[in-house]
Amino acid sequence: MSSATKNVAVLGSTGSIGNSALEVIAASDRRLRAIALSAHARLDRLIAQAQQCRPRWVVATDKEAARIFDWTGLPKESELVVGQEGLERIVAEDDVDIVLAGIVGSAGLRSTWAALEAKKTVALANKESMVMGGALLTQLARERNALILPVDSEHSAVFQALQAGRPEEVLRVVLTASGGPFRELPLSEFRQVTVDDALAHPTWEMGPKITIDSATMMNKALEIIECHWLFDLPSERIDVVVHPQSVVHSFVEFVDGSVVAQLGVPDMRLPIQYALEYPHRRPGKAPRLDWDRKWQLDFSPPDPERFPALELGRRCAQAGGTSGAVVNAANEAAVEAFLEGELHFTEIVPACCSVLDAHNFDPNPTLQQLMELDRWARQEVSRWVCA
Ligand code: MG
Repeated sequence: MSSATKNVAVLGSTGSIGNSALEVIAASDRRLRAIALSAHARLDRLIAQAQQCRPRWVVATDKEAARIFDWTGLPKESELVVGQEGLERIVAEDDVDIVLAGIVGSAGLRSTWAALEAKKTVALANKESMVMGGALLTQLARERNALILPVDSEHSAVFQALQAGRPEEVLRVVLTASGGPFRELPLSEFRQVTVDDALAHPTWEMGPKITIDSATMMNKALEIIECHWLFDLPSERIDVVVHPQSVVHSFVEFVDGSVVAQLGVPDMRLPIQYALEYPHRRPGKAPRLDWDRKWQLDFSPPDPERFPALELGRRCAQAGGTSGAVVNAANEAAVEAFLEGELHFTEIVPACCSVLDAHNFDPNPTLQQLMELDRWARQEVSRWVCA
């Protein structure tokens, strides 16, 4: 059945990852089809996407927004489904082959969970769900024999490079980090960083949450935790190197000293396509590296003083349990507060650290517990903001 169409449920279709995924699907020569689209806000964009790709299901997870929205533009063949429960039902539908988890933040955890529970392949762009519940999600995937394919560019690179050897031959994984816009900013000027400064990422075009996370390097901290769970690696075998050009997306060092890397233009369509078409490689729309020009690729160790988030990420990967969920939620709330002008840039990581220190650690939490901690950590950050 190699010619069969793969039906993709695109969760978070109106976001940056969702948009890129729809481009990959449109360029796939009908090998891929968007069978479901989901969005929380931006319902006008959701309708426009539905008119383009005519999915069987259109899911609006915010019930209230869906109730007051004018759905007359919805294509006749598309069924409107509302609410989080609706989304969890759709990802489990028999005709869904693969779920592209492109929802940003902890809001993506329950749908990722539902997809794995229904034995679906999950193309995971929602790193926060792995950071929150990595132990539970990977265990569920093993029990259900469901595949989790990384979409995060670094983890896609690691996944591709790992195929060059056996698990026991891996010495360490090295995640590359662009260093964001403040790689060379004097430390004394960090306190004056504005929202606009932090939103101007030098190499990647992404949504606001992840762009701020790149500037603080919380993104890399979350990726250390994600890497730990996805590839079952202890945190001391996960390193980070600053690579401003974002061409090498990460590498794996094997015990013999060989280092295998994956390179490409920084364009999310590439890792999305790799996950959706896996195990095949196809020509796609992402631009190619131009080898007719001169390239300089720089690598340097990150400065721990400039980027204290890295140590925090390592701590969470080491501790496991509830720590990932707490730091992830605290960071989401802190980034929101920063975007609203309620918190300084330099306070984002300290806020996460103090919420982590204040929480009641549990090494083996349930999903319910993680959800409750998610709420609690956000409240703790608001208290921090008001203090
Ligand atoms: Mg990444």
